[in-house]
Amino acid sequence: MFENLSERLSGVFDRLTKQGALSEDDVKTALREVRVALLEADVSLPVARDFVKAVQAKATGQAVTKSITPGQQVVKIVHDELVHVLTGDEDPGKLKIDNPPAPILMVGLQGSGKTTTTAKLAKRLKERENKRVLMASLDVNRPAAMEQLQILGAQIGVDTLPIVKGEDPVTIAKRAKTQAAMGGYDVYMLDTAGRLHIDAELIAQAAAVRDVAQPRETLLVVDGLTGQDAVNVATEFDDKIGVSGVVLTRMDGDGRGGAALSMRAVTGKPIRFVGLGEKMDAIETFEPSRIAGRILGMGDIVSLVEKAQETLEAEQAERMMRRFTKGQFNMNDLRSQLEQMMKMGGMEGMMSMLPGAAKMQKQMDGAGIDDKMLKRQIALIQSMTKRERANPQILQASRKKRIAKGAGLEVSELNKLLKMHRQMADMMKKMGKMGKGGMLKQAMK
Ligand code: GDP
Repeated sequence: MFENLSERLSGVFDRLTKQGALSEDDVKTALREVRVALLEADVSLPVARDFVKAVQAKATGQAVTKSITPGQQVVKIVHDELVHVLTGDEDPGKLKIDNPPAPILMVGLQGSGKTTTTAKLAKRLKERENKRVLMASLDVNRPAAMEQLQILGAQIGVDTLPIVKGEDPVTIAKRAKTQAAMGGYDVYMLDTAGRLHIDAELIAQAAAVRDVAQPRETLLVVDGLTGQDAVNVATEFDDKIGVSGVVLTRMDGDGRGGAALSMRAVTGKPIRFVGLGEKMDAIETFEPSRIAGRILGMGDIVSLVEKAQETLEAEQAERMMRRFTKGQFNMNDLRSQLEQMMKMGGMEGMMSMLPGAAKMQKQMDGAGIDDKMLKRQIALIQSMTKRERANPQILQASRKKRIAKGAGLEVSELNKLLKMHRQMADMMKKMGKMGKGGMLKQAMK
């Protein structure tokens, strides 16, 4: 049984009663546990080592949030770093399939789930992107593999290239290309032969096919249960063939997903999809935070992290509120409030943070506050100078004109914004005077 990382860490941190910033020693102790957890999750040693180093640099000296333990805080930092490392630049689910017919080359070891994944992706392209797909098996050594693809094709309603006995893989690839072009297909997928281990012949064959097909995507299918071995496979395939992404299969099993981290860290290749079962729909776009949770070995990590995040936000809000009630509510504050509103998709969320705001909300609803208006208001604030934002009372006619012009809006709109700012500032000041025990405290709950 894997011990839950948060339990491990809380053990470490139970001894620590002090709050404040995470000390270097606290972090070191915690990260020893993190390293063990990573290794248990099949992350390779050098990757785990580098990863821990990166986390250490980020964690040391971080302020510990009230209401979560230092252990939880470290877990959050680790989680975020995992997500950071696992996240690629582009949308993993978006395959490059412009310029039809677009070739997709599927490579990997035998038994990795290559044929199944080929069919799963074909089905996805057909159903989600309305693409016409042609699949071809190049596994001339195993007739059963060719038939398997044919059967899957029939099952999902995707065409397969007719099997011609005695052809070599390069010839089949050429035939697939011709047929795809003539038949008006958007995509053709080449399911190459796999071996149990990488050998020179397998690589030479895949390279020859690659040269003929010039694939837009070369996807390496790797069994997610194979752990560290997967990294060697990925490195080898990438060096010799060049891959554009990885599909991790069998992520429905008990594998801890550490291979994902190692593979990403070692090869730099993005993980694009994960296979989650034998059924044709059992494939999903890769989601870093899910794998991160899995690597940490804690089902509750995500909610834990989210809770921590909420706490952080609540504390920030509390700090802000304290300033506001002292009458320090300037245009920068207003802007961050407006941006927050946009993020939360409307007034309601934010209003619920402000005490006694129901009345104002009504007024604002009447004024038709929506995303467009929020954007215009933010543009107006952006068009102010630093000094103007800090002291909006200095805005006279000429400044107003300049600001409105800068935002491409009318002065009347700026006036509305200023009025709203004044009202909000007044209201907050009043609430501050009403006392800490009253409404304000109520609202902070
Ligand atoms: P190939 O030799 O690489 O083409 O592998 P196959 O596609 O034939 O797959 C080998 C076995 O793994 C088959 O029984 C598949 O149903 C199974 N398989 C493939 N992907 C997954 C997956 O994501 N989860 C599970 N549980 N089984 C899978």
